[in-house]
Amino acid sequence: MNHFFRVWPHFWPHRRKFFLSVAFALLVAFFWGLNLSMSFLVVKVFLQGENLQEYVEQEIAAAQVESEYRGGKVRRQDEELRALDERPTRRTADERVSLLSDRSRDEAKLNSATKKLLFYNWLKANVLPWVPTDNFDVFALILAVFLAGTIIKGVCTFVQEVLIGSVVELTTMGVRKQCFREVLKLDYQTLSLAGTPELMARFTYDMDVMAHGLRLLGGKVIREPLKAATCLALAFLVSWRLTLLSLLFAPLAVIVFYRIGKTLKRASLRLMEAMSQIYKTLEETFDGLKIVIAFNGASRHRRRFHHENKRYYRKAMSIVKLDALTSPTTETMGLMAALLALLPGAYLVLRGVTDIWGMRLVAEPMDIAELSLLYVALAGIIDPARKLSTTFSKLKRGAAAADRLFGFIDREPLVRQAADARRLPRHQRSIEFKNVGFRYATKPGAGSERPDVLDDVSLTVEFGEVIVVVGENGSGKSTLVNLLPRYYDPHRGAVLVDGADIRDVRLRDLRDQIGVVTQETLLFDDTIYENIRYGRTSASRAEVEEAARRAHVTQFLDILPDGFQTHVGDKGGRLSGGQRQRVALARAILRDPAILILDEATSAIDAQSERLIHQTLREFARGRTTFLITHSVSQSILDFVSRVVVMQDGRLIAAGRHQTLLETCPPYRSLFRAQVEQSTSQTAAA
Ligand code: ADP
Repeated sequence: MNHFFRVWPHFWPHRRKFFLSVAFALLVAFFWGLNLSMSFLVVKVFLQGENLQEYVEQEIAAAQVESEYRGGKVRRQDEELRALDERPTRRTADERVSLLSDRSRDEAKLNSATKKLLFYNWLKANVLPWVPTDNFDVFALILAVFLAGTIIKGVCTFVQEVLIGSVVELTTMGVRKQCFREVLKLDYQTLSLAGTPELMARFTYDMDVMAHGLRLLGGKVIREPLKAATCLALAFLVSWRLTLLSLLFAPLAVIVFYRIGKTLKRASLRLMEAMSQIYKTLEETFDGLKIVIAFNGASRHRRRFHHENKRYYRKAMSIVKLDALTSPTTETMGLMAALLALLPGAYLVLRGVTDIWGMRLVAEPMDIAELSLLYVALAGIIDPARKLSTTFSKLKRGAAAADRLFGFIDREPLVRQAADARRLPRHQRSIEFKNVGFRYATKPGAGSERPDVLDDVSLTVEFGEVIVVVGENGSGKSTLVNLLPRYYDPHRGAVLVDGADIRDVRLRDLRDQIGVVTQETLLFDDTIYENIRYGRTSASRAEVEEAARRAHVTQFLDILPDGFQTHVGDKGGRLSGGQRQRVALARAILRDPAILILDEATSAIDAQSERLIHQTLREFARGRTTFLITHSVSQSILDFVSRVVVMQDGRLIAAGRHQTLLETCPPYRSLFRAQVEQSTSQTAAA
């Protein structure tokens, strides 16, 4: 359960509430014990027909006899001791020791008799005047006290649960926020390997399971043992020897629960993994709804969902079985423990003796009321134990969830800022890829490594250049430019900005100067205005509008219901692909980056608008270094690019001016030709 302790820093600020809840748990335990001890009185009244006054008188008389007897004995022992002291011999020394031990035992008994006397006298003076003498009235009084005890106990339980619930919710909120903070610190690769559904599952399902565990930990796990402890104390009061006898079962119970607990934790981890899979199927299906509908994929997704659910069911069932096992196991073990005390107890009562096989089990012969109190007290332990055992499995599940949560938080980000990171002034000289090699990471435990995606790529770009990166799909173009904002770091070689290795500079400085527009442009569920402003939150309205104008966003604002204030919907789903890309471009323009990365940024924009955007870029690219990944090298691009870089199978095979490459680089020639043919055939078709 080690990871439960990790929530400590989030719990500590709410300790006051927690301790208050513990106080209420103590009250609950007290009233639990009080209610159970009522059984003693009931038996007295009903079975033995005694009333309380008689009982107290008897006890006082007995205590008086006992205290006089012991007092007399102690006095005699004192005299004998004095006599021994007057004629000390070797033999008397031994006698003295045994006499002293007798005396201390008798003195202890005298003490307890005196206390008893005091207690019953106090009872007689302060309580008994209020207690009726008629047995029926006494019984009614007992029931009234019982009812009142139960009501107060209920109120205390309520308050305790509410207090602990509040502590747990606040603590969980702290953990959730910490998780979010830590997850955002992780690098892009680690997060994309884990995947959105997995992350969502951890933030919702796992977090819930952990909170549930915490609630039990602060609620039942504190209250029930206290209740059990009260009963145990009660049982010890009646007969500590018999109670000890019943505790012989405790180690057995510990072993059994330890074993069940281990199995449970493993099963819980598997259950949570199964839930992640369900999240995954859900996300994939709802995310790809268009494809699912168009390809009639519903039945396929249903089958998969069914499959995942069955898997979850199987894992859940193993927990259900273990869960179902715990309660009867505790009950049986508890009963066996109680029987271990009750059987000899009943023997002592029914035969009216104090020893069994020469073993002293009670100080004085027990009566049936005492036996029944012992029985009730032991039964009173079984109930909390049973309740605890059912929480046990949930606790284990909570601990497993905490393990999963904190295990994720503890992951080391693959991309980290160096401890002695330097400042990076605005880029103004060059960007250099130096013998860069890179391969994507695999999931932990996924076996073989992936092949190299970038192999010994070297390229120096002067400040202000516009570099077009071309190559077939999967040749590594995006991977190469993604090294710049440090989505991931190269395995070999280095990326230098103005001569500084980007691993040695402050991440914030680096990323502040980069503007990115990707093919799958991501917008947030907000207005167009706010999505653009995301590029630089300090920008004024005029600046936002200017960026929107340059990215030709203003063109389509008129046809939207609320213009700038139009909500773009989840992931920008209410805009067309081309509109989304233009908003994303405006966002990058507003950022005023020194390094601009456009990864197929105009792929969804129509030819006419693309040309306009290229004109914008032509001006905008001045005074910055631009990387442009594109599948179509049109004339409007060639008008303002400095160099073309050709990638093939992760290697940079050529870099130079368009015209030169057409003559010297056959792969570029065929790429360019294919594209020209495609666009002419498209024009012809149109
Ligand atoms: P391009 O941009 O030239 O189309 P990419 O740089 O996107 O190519 O991809 C290069 C290679 O890396 C491809 O073979 C692709 O399968 C692989 N790849 C791309 N992204 C990932 C990723 N997140 N995880 C694993 N492999 C990837």
